[in-house]
Amino acid sequence: MPDAADRVAELRALIRDASYRYYVRDDPPVDDAVYDAWMRELEQLEAAHPGLVTHDSPTQRVGAQPSSRFSPHRHLQPMLSLANARGAEELREWNRRLAAVLDQEGMAGRPVRYVVEPKIDGLAISLTYEDGRLAVGATRGDGEVGEDVTANIRTIMAVPLVLRDGIGAPPERVEVRGEVYLPLEAFAQFNEARAREGLPTFANPRNAAAGSLRQLDPRLTAERPLSAWFYAVGAADGIGAVSHEDMLAWLREAGFPVNPLIAVYDDIDAVAVACAAWEERRGDLDYDIDGAVVKVDSLEMQRRLGAVARAPRWAIAYKFAPTTATTLLRDIRVNVGRTGAIVPWAELDPVHVGGVTVERATLHNQDDLARKDLRIGDTVVVQRAGDVIPQVVSALTQRRTGDERAFEVPTHCPACAAALVRPEGEVIWRCPNRSCPAQLVESVIHFASRGCMDIEGLGEKTVQKLFDVGLIANVADLYDLTAEQLVPLEGFKDQSAANLVNGIGQSRQRPWPRVINALGIRHVGQVTADAIALVAPRLDALLGATADDLARADGVGPVVAEAVTEFLSSGDNRAMLDRLRAAGLTMEMDVPDGPVDGPLTGCTVVVTGALQAFTRDEARRAIIAAGGKSTDTVSRKTSFVVVGADPGSKVAKAENAGVPVVDEATFAAVLAGSAPVPERGD
Ligand code: NAD
Repeated sequence: MPDAADRVAELRALIRDASYRYYVRDDPPVDDAVYDAWMRELEQLEAAHPGLVTHDSPTQRVGAQPSSRFSPHRHLQPMLSLANARGAEELREWNRRLAAVLDQEGMAGRPVRYVVEPKIDGLAISLTYEDGRLAVGATRGDGEVGEDVTANIRTIMAVPLVLRDGIGAPPERVEVRGEVYLPLEAFAQFNEARAREGLPTFANPRNAAAGSLRQLDPRLTAERPLSAWFYAVGAADGIGAVSHEDMLAWLREAGFPVNPLIAVYDDIDAVAVACAAWEERRGDLDYDIDGAVVKVDSLEMQRRLGAVARAPRWAIAYKFAPTTATTLLRDIRVNVGRTGAIVPWAELDPVHVGGVTVERATLHNQDDLARKDLRIGDTVVVQRAGDVIPQVVSALTQRRTGDERAFEVPTHCPACAAALVRPEGEVIWRCPNRSCPAQLVESVIHFASRGCMDIEGLGEKTVQKLFDVGLIANVADLYDLTAEQLVPLEGFKDQSAANLVNGIGQSRQRPWPRVINALGIRHVGQVTADAIALVAPRLDALLGATADDLARADGVGPVVAEAVTEFLSSGDNRAMLDRLRAAGLTMEMDVPDGPVDGPLTGCTVVVTGALQAFTRDEARRAIIAAGGKSTDTVSRKTSFVVVGADPGSKVAKAENAGVPVVDEATFAAVLAGSAPVPERGD
């Protein structure tokens, strides 16, 4: 089969080159997904044509030859790779294979427990301790022989130089295995600093960590905030563990950081659910994980299962869809936001990342762009995790050819041609023209959006269309629209026109704080709008409010107060507010005189995740009505955090700050006065 042989040879050459550049140079030529696809294709071809398998094929080997820049270190026990599973079905297939081998080994019917660990996307290390002292720290290398990087490893604070006394007499010799990584925040700062200095940047935190650990000068390693998690023991004498879980407990006792998210399960379905949940929540962590590692817990079973080629049979890596990819930055364009902010965005060669094809990504602002030193024509790293808007993380400066172009901020607004301004001390250029069509369109989109007037059927495209045909020029015009005007427009029928007019009509019921938020005043979001509504409970009070009056509102400082008074000082805005009042919008609310005395008096409460009985807005209002303060950020001043479904990182933040975390039922009981306010742990 000459075709298969040719392809096998071609794939091996591609994989060898990529492995060398990934493992030795820390500068991969392609994305991991591309590399993984080559590897899978090679595995499939070799399975179909066993005669083509050679012992030096990349499918039979781990990693790459260690670099000759470091002294070699032969591992006492080899450091293997892991087989991969994509999705629950492949995980179950692995489990069936396990069961078959265990059957043959006479262990049929014995229950299997599984340990599920986050798969840290870093660089594997092996630490050898002799009589409790760190003797050698090495990289994995080709699995048999790694690089001796002891001096560098000693600079990592997470690595104990001496084992703790708690474990009794230390084993004579033990190899401890773990993963060195660079926290995400540190990675971003590190790459930005390198870009500023004109140094090559790293494609991802993994390569940055690897590059940092493999420095010839340990002082350079020491400057980088590397950290580590530990998850296995290689050769060991005298650790009386019978399970992987015991082994992890020993590691913890001996002073190694063991990831607190590691959990044990009794059946493979629960394992699959846990892996999928990790994929959803990976964005909450401050380090990259590229999967979950599932390991059979019993060490006896592990021994019986053994290893094939380059990976143990008793473990599998459940791989997540990649959240970063590299692609070409074709162009940098700008948008005009509702407050006139000029927001640059990237036009990209389409690339598959985080489960979708991405063609555009945000670039935040001019300073951010300059800090990252992104140039048109660069190969860039794009990131997209969960629902987060895709972002350009960095440029791979080493791939520059010299043809790249720096981006020049336009001097004039692309929508209305007004000269752009950048107020002293601000990072954002703005279009100062209040009647700029782009700003007006954006302000209507904001007005109609979910957290504001929540107008069903009035999305971005419809707003643009209504502007284009001249039916609206600002938010007040919405309330004059009739179904007859809409029906002739493309995309509208009798029913949809009636629905939109109806949706606009219903928005008249939205409470006053939502109207304040909908106005789109700079720096004013819903939390600030709620606070402003309390000091200005009706439109006249708002129109007459001075900066000092506004500053009485919680969370309103001089900058916000000035943004509000500036907005209200515009004749056009006042006329628009008059028209909204005439259109029948809710422009007042009842506020109790003086602070409310209720179960939450004196408390500051944060709600995170989705609650069942309350929308976010209702929860906020319930807190205020019970005398409390509702805020969005967890701090030491927070009294407690209410957590609903799919919460973000606020829970971890609360736990770190000793702030109590309660569920919705407890929250409801506290509001009803039937449960006490949760007490802080400290
Ligand atoms: P792997 O990353 O698939 O899995 C094994 C590694 O997982 C271990 O060596 C260890 O470092 C790590 N790991 C993290 N957490 C762990 C835990 N809790 N328990 C056990 N191990 C844990 O295997 P690999 O052989 O190191 O390399 C393959 C990876 O490298 C692939 O993702 C591939 O895409 C990438 N790669 C990319 C290129 C490229 O050019 N882009 C080239 C070579 C390799």
